[in-house]
Amino acid sequence: MGLFDRLFGIEKAEDPQEEPVVEVTEEVAAPAEASEPKQLEEEGPVVEAVEEVAAPAEASEPEPLEEVEVAEIAVEKVTAETLPDYYVQMRAQLDAASRKVEEEQFQDALEEVRKRRETEAEKYNRSLQKTRSGFLESLNAFFANFRTVDEEFFEELEELLITSDVGVQVATQLTEDLRQEARLENAKKPEDLRRVIIEKLVDIYDKDGHYEEEINFQEGLTVMLFVGVNGVGKTTSIGKLAYRYKEEGRKVMLVAADTFRAGAVAQLVEWGKRVDVPVVTGPEKSDPASVVYDGLERAQAEGVDVLLVDTAGRLQNKDNLMAELEKMGRIIKRVIPEAPHETLLALDASTGQNALVQAKEFSKITPVTGIVLTKIDGTARGGVVLAIRQELDIPVKLIGFGEKLDDIGDFNSEQFMRSLLDGVFVTEME
Ligand code: GDP
Repeated sequence: MGLFDRLFGIEKAEDPQEEPVVEVTEEVAAPAEASEPKQLEEEGPVVEAVEEVAAPAEASEPEPLEEVEVAEIAVEKVTAETLPDYYVQMRAQLDAASRKVEEEQFQDALEEVRKRRETEAEKYNRSLQKTRSGFLESLNAFFANFRTVDEEFFEELEELLITSDVGVQVATQLTEDLRQEARLENAKKPEDLRRVIIEKLVDIYDKDGHYEEEINFQEGLTVMLFVGVNGVGKTTSIGKLAYRYKEEGRKVMLVAADTFRAGAVAQLVEWGKRVDVPVVTGPEKSDPASVVYDGLERAQAEGVDVLLVDTAGRLQNKDNLMAELEKMGRIIKRVIPEAPHETLLALDASTGQNALVQAKEFSKITPVTGIVLTKIDGTARGGVVLAIRQELDIPVKLIGFGEKLDDIGDFNSEQFMRSLLDGVFVTEME
């Protein structure tokens, strides 16, 4: 059964999960909106995200705890002489209490995330909302505009597809196929072609039907190297994956091999603390390959299952970056000849075609085995997945759905296309 049939055939019609999916999404989204103001904003996006989820647990403000402790000291110790001591003690106690409160809130938030885990389908539906409605709006406007199938129809369609970020190749191929089809079937009315357009789009995406989206996990230690330019979401993805793999019962370790950028190591160390996994670091500006070597040795000695390595997104120039990644690769192979088992390139979906350019550039620098597509939520440029599939020989393997701890998932083409094209035939059926 082809992808189009799987998406729009019997299976979709009978899918009993469709209704609840929407309901649950709304339920989860509603309290998040009510979570203002965010008190811990300076702690970064993770805490922010976690707090959003934890908002309903607001009732747990443990103020009475602080008041009782302070009152006790006041009664026992405060005199004119002991006032300074009392003041210092009181501050220390308040600080400790507030740290405890923060820790408790963080643990509560973690618990909330665990309890209220969105299903994969919900995550795809939520994250693709902007892309989906953008595409549907353009498509509907396009069909409303044309009464006949003429050359202008095809030209406009090609333009619509290009502006939907599906890439020039997909747009050209689809329009060309459609011209032929329209000629063969002698289609006169544009609406007749709606179904054919979607079918072609899915067929072009389906390509040879091979996806290879799974992570190449090993029986023993799996080494995953993360590459990509700064700001695309590499470190965040590593943190989220560490949390996820740990939750799955794997032993995880992180390696901070981006020794070049000030703050990169600290950011990863922070993630390590947050999700409670060890992070291997070296001195500032030290040789990243030697940090990776230390990481590998420690991972082997401690029976780690997954080693996630953060690398520099940018050096003085491309040659330096290439040399560094090559050296890292050599060192890794010296310890484990088949490693790294994955070299994953992080790409920011919201950069659209620029993400494609980055992928082409990085492939020249180092062999990339998969893509982590981040920030698909919050962008209308999710169509770039079709361009990636068509124009690159690199499968998307992981997808970032947002900034919460569990907002990362294995990429699933079928689910992606299902969410992207949800509702595309509604007009036709009405
Ligand atoms: P790096 O320089 O590639 O390591 O990028 P970072 O991991 O520091 O991420 C840059 C920013 O992107 C941070 O503010 C992250 O919270 C944000 N980010 C990362 N992944 C996602 C995602 O999937 N969705 C959203 N909305 N934001 C993300």
